[in-house]
Amino acid sequence: MAASSISWNFDNSYVRLPAPFYHRHNPTTVRAPQLVVLNQGLAHQLGLDPQAVGGSQWAAFFCGNELPPGCDPIAQAYSGCQFGSFTTLGDGRAILLGEIVAPDGGRFDLQYKGSGRTVYSRGGDGRAALGPMLREYLISEAMHALGIPTTRSLAVVATGEAVYRDRPLPGAVLTRVAASHIRVGTFEHFAAKSDLENLRILVDYTIRRHYPDALEANNPCMRLLEAVLDRQAELVARWLGVGFVHGVMNTDNMAISGETIDYGPCAFLDSYDPHTVFSSIDHRGRYAFDNQPRIAQWNLARFAETLLPLIDPQPALALEMASAMIGSFQDQFQRRWLEELRAKLGLFNAEPEDAALAQELLDWMHRHSADYTNTWRRIADDPPRADDIAAREYAPWHQRWRERLGRQEISVPAAIERMHRRNPVIVPRNLHVEQALAAAEEGDLTFFENLIQVLADPYNERPGIEAYRQPFDAGGKCYRTFCGT
Ligand code: AMP
Ligand code: MG
Repeated sequence: MAASSISWNFDNSYVRLPAPFYHRHNPTTVRAPQLVVLNQGLAHQLGLDPQAVGGSQWAAFFCGNELPPGCDPIAQAYSGCQFGSFTTLGDGRAILLGEIVAPDGGRFDLQYKGSGRTVYSRGGDGRAALGPMLREYLISEAMHALGIPTTRSLAVVATGEAVYRDRPLPGAVLTRVAASHIRVGTFEHFAAKSDLENLRILVDYTIRRHYPDALEANNPCMRLLEAVLDRQAELVARWLGVGFVHGVMNTDNMAISGETIDYGPCAFLDSYDPHTVFSSIDHRGRYAFDNQPRIAQWNLARFAETLLPLIDPQPALALEMASAMIGSFQDQFQRRWLEELRAKLGLFNAEPEDAALAQELLDWMHRHSADYTNTWRRIADDPPRADDIAAREYAPWHQRWRERLGRQEISVPAAIERMHRRNPVIVPRNLHVEQALAAAEEGDLTFFENLIQVLADPYNERPGIEAYRQPFDAGGKCYRTFCGT
């Protein structure tokens, strides 16, 4: 069947913005593209029929050797604070193909990652290795299945070329799907140049695309700030709920849409330690598990600063308004986090002692290095045994939790059923992710495909998944992740 039988419904609004927002760029062609994985469900959602053409045609489309009709490829301009320091960045190894308007009316960016050098590449080769692209595919799709807002992954194509890191690695291109790629760093980019005109255009564009209600507000900029803050508070609460450590929450890696974006050194907790850091370059724990709310607030403060001149012409007043909003983040986050904890504990009404009840469980997990995912999931299942210290400490807590569970309208079995929808059985455990990627790099996709399938259904207990629930035992050593560029 001809390639034209695919209906690519592009409508590229970002290229209608002024020149400083991007640079037109075609992807670099690759030697021997091979489709490694195509996300059939997501393709359908975007109005792309996966059966319309064969694998080699999809591979050509998703490595950039052939451009889908209607796309208008660009590299986007942005900046960002990396580990706290401002840097001018931009898509150094990504190309935005354009925006697909899906059959349901949703607008989605389609972006290649690893598609060659751009004007923003600085010293980089613009390329990506297969392992990290499959990792992003796996973890972003797992997050989606967990119900956490995230960019998604449509395809990975192996390029047939080597990329050179500390050793030669197989190269690949990931096609990422996002509500947009507007970042806190996009705003910083224009603010740093004191380019008020383009900043105003960016604010207007962002509001229309993501927060159209703000158009009606008295102060649309303040409303935008509030809405972004609200989504970040909720997002980080959801991350903590599943033990997710993003690992590199630089301001260029925080999407204004509220989606999780830029999966690099991220990983999930095995045993619970709130100070967990996985990334090998995060020496001071800036992006540690329990520091994520504070960093979200720090990033939001950078966002707020860019908006100051548009919030109010009087600088002192603008600063006062923005500071009050940023100051509200802690309360906002605590509210969201308590909601998350209550849902995980099966509590659907509120009592003043709920936060303490949850904290005692977390403290117990920390003292005994208990597995985060399994502990939450098994609260309702396992009657505590009194055969060791951990269990003797756990029993009275469990008793109080049971009593608390009874003090609500909803019946205990119904509460437990709902609680199971917030406590996954399956998360992408580090050991399994590593094993799947190592095998895939050797050309064996069996484990990767199995893992994708298991992770697509994270809340249902079923036979055959026991192996995926095993905690990772690193022999006392902490699991390490690498940026993988
Ligand atoms: P990241 O750490 O993926 O968020 O990327 C930070 C910045 O480095 C972005 O501007 C990327 O486009 C750029 N970058 C990362 N890897 C490469 C690469 N291999 N070649 C060129 N630019 C890169
Ligand atoms: Mg990034």
